[in-house]
Amino acid sequence: MQPTSPTAIRALLDRYGLEPKKGLGQHFLWQAGIVEKIADAAELDGEDVLVEIGPGLGILTAACARRAGLVIAVEIDESLFPLLGEVLQDYHNVRLVAGDARTVDFREIVARHAPGVKRPCKVIGNLPYYLTSPLLLRLLEGEFRAELLVFMVQKEVAERIVAGPGGKEYGSLSVAAQYYSEPELLFTVKPQAFLPPPEVSSAVVRLRRRERPPVEVADEGFFFQVVRAAFCYRRKTIRNALQEAALLEPGDASAVFAESGIAPVRRGETLGLHEFAGLANAILRARERKIGHALRQSN
Ligand code: SAM
Repeated sequence: MQPTSPTAIRALLDRYGLEPKKGLGQHFLWQAGIVEKIADAAELDGEDVLVEIGPGLGILTAACARRAGLVIAVEIDESLFPLLGEVLQDYHNVRLVAGDARTVDFREIVARHAPGVKRPCKVIGNLPYYLTSPLLLRLLEGEFRAELLVFMVQKEVAERIVAGPGGKEYGSLSVAAQYYSEPELLFTVKPQAFLPPPEVSSAVVRLRRRERPPVEVADEGFFFQVVRAAFCYRRKTIRNALQEAALLEPGDASAVFAESGIAPVRRGETLGLHEFAGLANAILRARERKIGHALRQSN
Protein backbone atom coordinates (compact mmCIF):
# COMPACT_ATOMS: atom_id res chain seq x y z
CA MET A 1 0.00 0.00 0.00
CA GLN A 2 1.32 3.42 -0.97
CA PRO A 3 1.39 5.99 1.86
CA THR A 4 -0.49 8.89 0.22
CA SER A 5 -1.39 11.04 3.23
CA PRO A 6 0.60 12.42 6.17
CA THR A 7 -1.38 10.12 8.48
CA ALA A 8 -0.55 7.05 6.39
CA ILE A 9 3.16 7.99 6.34
CA ARG A 10 3.20 8.53 10.07
CA ALA A 11 1.46 5.18 10.66
CA LEU A 12 3.88 3.35 8.34
CA LEU A 13 6.93 4.87 10.05
CA ASP A 14 5.47 4.06 13.51
CA ARG A 15 4.85 0.46 12.54
CA TYR A 16 8.56 0.08 11.73
CA GLY A 17 9.67 2.16 14.73
CA LEU A 18 11.22 4.83 12.44
CA GLU A 19 11.52 8.61 12.62
CA PRO A 20 12.45 10.81 9.62
CA LYS A 21 16.20 11.51 9.81
CA LYS A 22 16.90 15.20 9.42
CA GLY A 23 20.59 14.68 8.66
CA LEU A 24 19.66 12.59 5.60
CA GLY A 25 17.11 15.15 4.39
CA GLN A 26 14.22 12.75 4.94
CA HIS A 27 11.16 14.75 3.88
CA PHE A 28 8.78 12.20 2.42
CA LEU A 29 6.47 13.15 -0.43
CA TRP A 30 2.89 12.08 0.09
CA GLN A 31 0.85 13.96 -2.57
CA ALA A 32 0.18 11.30 -5.19
CA GLY A 33 -0.53 13.83 -7.97
CA ILE A 34 2.93 15.38 -7.59
CA VAL A 35 4.61 11.98 -7.44
CA GLU A 36 2.95 11.04 -10.75
CA LYS A 37 4.05 14.34 -12.33
CA ILE A 38 7.68 13.75 -11.32
CA ALA A 39 7.60 10.20 -12.69
CA ASP A 40 6.04 11.50 -15.95
CA ALA A 41 8.86 14.03 -16.28
CA ALA A 42 11.34 11.17 -16.78
CA GLU A 43 9.54 10.19 -20.02
CA LEU A 44 9.84 6.49 -19.18
CA ASP A 45 8.91 3.47 -21.22
CA GLY A 46 9.15 -0.28 -20.65
CA GLU A 47 12.71 -0.39 -22.06
CA ASP A 48 14.12 2.15 -19.64
CA VAL A 49 16.56 1.39 -16.85
CA LEU A 50 16.08 4.06 -14.21
CA VAL A 51 18.34 4.74 -11.23
CA GLU A 52 16.53 6.33 -8.31
CA ILE A 53 18.50 8.18 -5.65
CA GLY A 54 16.98 7.91 -2.17
CA PRO A 55 13.73 5.92 -2.51
CA GLY A 56 12.74 6.76 1.07
CA LEU A 57 9.35 5.14 1.62
CA GLY A 58 9.09 4.04 -2.01
CA ILE A 59 6.24 6.22 -3.27
CA LEU A 60 8.18 7.66 -6.23
CA THR A 61 9.88 4.30 -6.75
CA ALA A 62 6.48 2.63 -7.27
CA ALA A 63 5.28 5.34 -9.67
CA CYS A 64 8.48 4.87 -11.71
CA ALA A 65 8.25 1.07 -11.60
CA ARG A 66 4.80 1.34 -13.22
CA ARG A 67 6.43 3.11 -16.17
CA ALA A 68 10.03 1.81 -16.55
CA GLY A 69 11.52 -1.60 -17.41
CA LEU A 70 13.73 -1.64 -14.33
CA VAL A 71 14.20 0.69 -11.35
CA ILE A 72 17.47 0.47 -9.40
CA ALA A 73 16.97 2.41 -6.17
CA VAL A 74 20.07 3.48 -4.21
CA GLU A 75 19.34 4.29 -0.55
CA ILE A 76 21.86 5.17 2.16
CA ASP A 77 19.52 4.44 5.09
CA GLU A 78 19.35 0.67 5.42
CA SER A 79 16.84 0.89 8.27
CA LEU A 80 14.24 1.71 5.56
CA PHE A 81 14.77 -1.58 3.70
CA PRO A 82 12.21 -3.77 5.55
CA LEU A 83 9.57 -1.06 5.05
CA LEU A 84 10.55 -0.65 1.38
CA GLY A 85 10.28 -4.41 0.94
CA GLU A 86 6.67 -4.23 2.09
CA VAL A 87 5.66 -1.10 0.12
CA LEU A 88 7.25 -2.41 -3.08
CA GLN A 89 6.37 -6.10 -2.74
CA ASP A 90 4.22 -6.13 -5.89
CA TYR A 91 6.87 -4.42 -8.04
CA HIS A 92 9.16 -7.13 -9.35
CA ASN A 93 11.14 -4.70 -11.52
CA VAL A 94 12.65 -2.84 -8.54
CA ARG A 95 16.13 -3.56 -7.16
CA LEU A 96 17.15 -1.99 -3.85
CA VAL A 97 20.82 -1.15 -3.42
CA ALA A 98 22.35 0.00 -0.14
CA GLY A 99 24.83 2.78 -0.78
CA ASP A 100 25.83 6.40 -0.72
CA ALA A 101 25.02 8.19 -3.99
CA ARG A 102 28.14 10.35 -3.52
CA THR A 103 30.46 7.38 -3.84
CA VAL A 104 28.73 4.32 -5.33
CA ASP A 105 29.88 3.13 -8.72
CA PHE A 106 26.73 3.66 -10.81
CA ARG A 107 28.18 1.95 -13.88
CA GLU A 108 28.99 -1.19 -11.88
CA ILE A 109 25.56 -1.20 -10.22
CA VAL A 110 23.74 -0.90 -13.55
CA ALA A 111 25.97 -3.54 -15.17
CA ARG A 112 25.20 -5.89 -12.27
CA HIS A 113 21.42 -5.41 -12.28
CA ALA A 114 20.84 -4.80 -15.99
CA PRO A 115 23.56 -6.74 -17.81
CA GLY A 116 23.56 -6.33 -21.55
CA VAL A 117 21.34 -3.26 -21.61
CA LYS A 118 22.84 -0.85 -24.15
CA ARG A 119 20.41 2.05 -23.89
CA PRO A 120 21.66 4.93 -21.66
CA CYS A 121 20.03 5.09 -18.22
CA LYS A 122 17.92 7.79 -16.68
CA VAL A 123 18.22 9.03 -13.10
CA ILE A 124 15.52 10.37 -10.80
CA GLY A 125 15.39 11.51 -7.20
CA ASN A 126 13.82 13.72 -4.62
CA LEU A 127 17.18 14.86 -3.33
CA PRO A 128 18.21 15.98 0.13
CA TYR A 129 19.66 19.48 0.01
CA TYR A 130 23.18 18.50 1.05
CA LEU A 131 23.45 16.04 -1.82
CA THR A 132 22.24 18.17 -4.72
CA SER A 133 25.34 19.99 -6.00
CA PRO A 134 27.93 17.24 -5.44
CA LEU A 135 25.67 14.59 -6.95
CA LEU A 136 24.68 16.72 -9.92
CA LEU A 137 28.31 17.52 -10.70
CA ARG A 138 29.28 13.87 -10.27
CA LEU A 139 26.55 12.72 -12.65
CA LEU A 140 27.26 15.41 -15.24
CA GLU A 141 31.05 15.22 -15.25
CA GLY A 142 31.65 11.56 -14.45
CA GLU A 143 31.92 8.44 -16.53
CA PHE A 144 28.34 7.31 -15.86
CA ARG A 145 26.54 9.00 -18.73
CA ALA A 146 22.84 9.08 -17.94
CA GLU A 147 20.81 10.66 -20.75
CA LEU A 148 18.17 12.30 -18.56
CA LEU A 149 18.18 13.45 -14.94
CA VAL A 150 14.98 14.43 -13.13
CA PHE A 151 15.46 15.85 -9.66
CA MET A 152 13.37 17.52 -7.02
CA VAL A 153 15.64 20.06 -5.36
CA GLN A 154 15.34 23.23 -3.31
CA LYS A 155 13.63 25.87 -5.47
CA GLU A 156 16.64 28.18 -5.07
CA VAL A 157 18.98 25.52 -6.38
CA ALA A 158 16.68 24.82 -9.32
CA GLU A 159 16.80 28.53 -10.16
CA ARG A 160 20.61 28.44 -10.01
CA ILE A 161 20.75 25.45 -12.33
CA VAL A 162 18.78 27.19 -15.10
CA ALA A 163 20.02 30.79 -14.50
CA GLY A 164 21.60 32.78 -17.31
CA PRO A 165 24.31 35.46 -16.96
CA GLY A 166 23.69 38.67 -15.06
CA GLY A 167 21.72 37.62 -12.00
CA LYS A 168 22.75 36.55 -8.53
CA GLU A 169 21.54 32.99 -9.15
CA TYR A 170 24.04 32.51 -11.98
CA GLY A 171 27.17 30.63 -10.88
CA SER A 172 29.45 27.65 -11.44
CA LEU A 173 26.55 25.22 -11.05
CA SER A 174 24.61 27.02 -13.83
CA VAL A 175 27.60 26.87 -16.17
CA ALA A 176 28.32 23.19 -15.46
CA ALA A 177 24.65 22.20 -15.84
CA GLN A 178 24.31 24.13 -19.11
CA TYR A 179 27.63 22.93 -20.48
CA TYR A 180 26.71 19.26 -20.12
CA SER A 181 22.94 19.39 -20.45
CA GLU A 182 19.85 21.36 -21.35
CA PRO A 183 18.26 22.03 -17.97
CA GLU A 184 14.59 22.99 -17.49
CA LEU A 185 12.72 24.02 -14.36
CA LEU A 186 9.44 22.11 -14.72
CA PHE A 187 7.31 23.05 -11.70
CA THR A 188 7.51 24.05 -8.05
CA VAL A 189 6.25 22.10 -5.05
CA LYS A 190 5.07 23.58 -1.75
CA PRO A 191 6.51 22.35 1.58
CA GLN A 192 3.06 20.95 2.57
CA ALA A 193 3.47 18.15 0.02
CA PHE A 194 6.05 16.50 2.33
CA LEU A 195 6.14 14.95 5.77
CA PRO A 196 7.77 16.55 7.65
CA PRO A 197 7.47 19.76 5.58
CA PRO A 198 10.85 21.34 4.75
CA GLU A 199 11.45 25.02 5.46
CA VAL A 200 11.62 26.03 1.81
CA SER A 201 9.81 25.34 -1.45
CA SER A 202 11.10 22.74 -3.87
CA ALA A 203 11.16 22.50 -7.64
CA VAL A 204 11.54 19.74 -10.18
CA VAL A 205 14.28 20.11 -12.77
CA ARG A 206 14.97 17.99 -15.81
CA LEU A 207 18.46 17.91 -17.35
CA ARG A 208 18.75 16.39 -20.80
CA ARG A 209 22.37 15.47 -21.55
CA ARG A 210 23.78 17.17 -24.64
CA GLU A 211 25.48 15.02 -27.24
CA ARG A 212 28.30 17.53 -27.21
CA PRO A 213 28.86 20.77 -25.27
CA PRO A 214 27.50 23.96 -26.88
CA VAL A 215 30.97 25.56 -26.87
CA GLU A 216 34.40 24.34 -27.91
CA VAL A 217 36.97 24.37 -25.15
CA ALA A 218 40.60 23.42 -25.64
CA ASP A 219 40.87 22.02 -22.09
CA GLU A 220 37.73 21.24 -20.09
CA GLY A 221 39.53 21.20 -16.75
CA PHE A 222 41.00 24.64 -17.39
CA PHE A 223 37.66 26.02 -18.63
CA PHE A 224 36.07 25.05 -15.30
CA GLN A 225 39.01 26.52 -13.34
CA VAL A 226 38.33 29.85 -15.10
CA VAL A 227 34.60 29.59 -14.36
CA ARG A 228 35.18 28.77 -10.68
CA ALA A 229 37.67 31.64 -10.28
CA ALA A 230 35.20 34.09 -11.85
CA PHE A 231 32.50 33.18 -9.32
CA CYS A 232 34.84 32.74 -6.39
CA TYR A 233 35.83 36.41 -6.72
CA ARG A 234 32.40 37.68 -7.79
CA ARG A 235 33.01 41.25 -6.75
CA LYS A 236 36.24 41.62 -8.67
CA THR A 237 36.56 42.38 -12.37
CA ILE A 238 37.18 39.27 -14.45
CA ARG A 239 40.77 40.39 -15.02
CA ASN A 240 41.47 40.72 -11.29
CA ALA A 241 39.63 37.51 -10.46
CA LEU A 242 41.72 35.51 -12.92
CA GLN A 243 44.93 37.10 -11.71
CA GLU A 244 43.98 36.51 -8.07
CA ALA A 245 43.46 32.82 -8.89
CA ALA A 246 46.86 32.76 -10.64
CA LEU A 247 45.24 31.69 -13.91
CA LEU A 248 46.22 34.78 -15.86
CA GLU A 249 49.65 36.39 -15.87
CA PRO A 250 49.48 40.20 -15.83
CA GLY A 251 51.71 40.33 -18.93
CA ASP A 252 49.21 38.24 -20.94
CA ALA A 253 46.11 40.18 -19.95
CA SER A 254 45.84 42.71 -22.77
CA ALA A 255 46.40 40.10 -25.51
CA VAL A 256 43.94 37.68 -23.89
CA PHE A 257 41.14 40.24 -23.51
CA ALA A 258 41.72 41.70 -26.98
CA GLU A 259 41.67 38.25 -28.55
CA SER A 260 38.54 37.09 -26.74
CA GLY A 261 36.75 40.42 -27.26
CA ILE A 262 35.84 40.67 -23.57
CA ALA A 263 36.22 43.89 -21.59
CA PRO A 264 38.59 43.15 -18.67
CA VAL A 265 36.47 45.30 -16.34
CA ARG A 266 33.43 43.04 -16.65
CA ARG A 267 32.46 40.83 -13.75
CA GLY A 268 32.51 37.09 -14.21
CA GLU A 269 28.82 36.75 -13.45
CA THR A 270 27.99 38.65 -16.67
CA LEU A 271 29.85 36.18 -18.92
CA GLY A 272 27.96 33.55 -20.90
CA LEU A 273 29.27 30.08 -21.72
CA HIS A 274 30.69 31.22 -25.08
CA GLU A 275 32.55 34.07 -23.43
CA PHE A 276 34.02 31.84 -20.71
CA ALA A 277 35.14 29.39 -23.39
CA GLY A 278 36.68 32.20 -25.50
CA LEU A 279 38.53 33.54 -22.48
CA ALA A 280 39.85 30.16 -21.32
CA ASN A 281 41.00 29.31 -24.85
CA ALA A 282 42.71 32.70 -25.25
CA ILE A 283 44.63 32.26 -21.98
CA LEU A 284 45.85 28.85 -23.11
CA ARG A 285 46.90 30.27 -26.48
CA ALA A 286 48.84 33.05 -24.73
CA ARG A 287 50.61 30.43 -22.61
CA GLU A 288 51.44 28.37 -25.69
CA ARG A 289 52.85 31.43 -27.47
CA LYS A 290 55.08 32.11 -24.48
CA ILE A 291 56.32 28.52 -24.35
CA GLY A 292 57.01 28.62 -28.11
CA HIS A 293 58.89 31.88 -27.70
CA ALA A 294 60.99 30.52 -24.81
CA LEU A 295 61.83 27.39 -26.81
CA ARG A 296 62.89 29.44 -29.83
CA GLN A 297 65.13 31.56 -27.61
CA SER A 298 66.79 28.56 -26.00
CA ASN A 299 67.64 27.05 -29.41
N1 SAM B 1 12.07 9.48 -2.63
C1 SAM B 1 11.42 9.67 -1.34
C2 SAM B 1 10.26 10.63 -1.50
O1 SAM B 1 10.18 11.27 -2.57
O2 SAM B 1 9.46 10.75 -0.58
C3 SAM B 1 12.39 10.17 -0.27
C4 SAM B 1 13.01 11.51 -0.54
S1 SAM B 1 13.92 12.16 0.84
C5 SAM B 1 13.88 13.89 0.43
C6 SAM B 1 15.62 11.81 0.45
C7 SAM B 1 16.01 10.34 0.48
O3 SAM B 1 17.40 10.23 0.13
C8 SAM B 1 15.89 9.69 1.84
O4 SAM B 1 15.34 8.42 1.72
C9 SAM B 1 17.35 9.60 2.33
O5 SAM B 1 17.57 8.56 3.26
C10 SAM B 1 18.06 9.38 1.02
N2 SAM B 1 19.48 9.78 1.05
C11 SAM B 1 20.03 10.79 1.74
N3 SAM B 1 21.35 10.88 1.49
C12 SAM B 1 21.63 9.90 0.58
C13 SAM B 1 22.83 9.47 -0.06
N4 SAM B 1 23.99 10.09 0.15
N5 SAM B 1 22.77 8.43 -0.91
C14 SAM B 1 21.58 7.78 -1.15
N6 SAM B 1 20.42 8.14 -0.55
C15 SAM B 1 20.44 9.19 0.29
